[in-house]
Amino acid sequence: MHLTTVALKKVFITFVFYFQVTSHEICHVFGMSHCSYFACGMNESKSILQAESQPLFLCPVCLRKLQKALYFDIVERYEVLYNFLDSLTQCDLLQKGCDGDSLQTASACKFVSSMNWLNSMLVFIENKPTT
Ligand SMILES: [Zn+2]
Ligand SMILES: [Zn+2]
Repeated sequence: MHLTTVALKKVFITFVFYFQVTSHEICHVFGMSHCSYFACGMNESKSILQAESQPLFLCPVCLRKLQKALYFDIVERYEVLYNFLDSLTQCDLLQKGCDGDSLQTASACKFVSSMNWLNSMLVFIENKPTT
């Protein structure tokens, strides 16, 4: 069976949403509650639409909570996340999803903007002057 580009895009977008929901639920496993500080992957949602509108990543407060629980290096985490997300775009479907075609969705664009956000965080951290 050969999947069409349309079918692959739908699979990709569904995968992104599962990735987001799974990340949220795993944070609960580590004792984190819902976030009310910023737009954050740990914001509470009462509908699928609300859940889809949440960011893929954690705000600084929640990131620190997770770091305290797991003892990870933030730069290393961002680099691994960026490389993982980048590897998913090898088929170039998400980039096309943000170019205005009929399958443009908030989820696809959020994925691309999340990668851009991760990259900007890495650039910011790497260029931060040391005191
Ligand atoms: Zn929750
Ligand atoms: Zn948060």
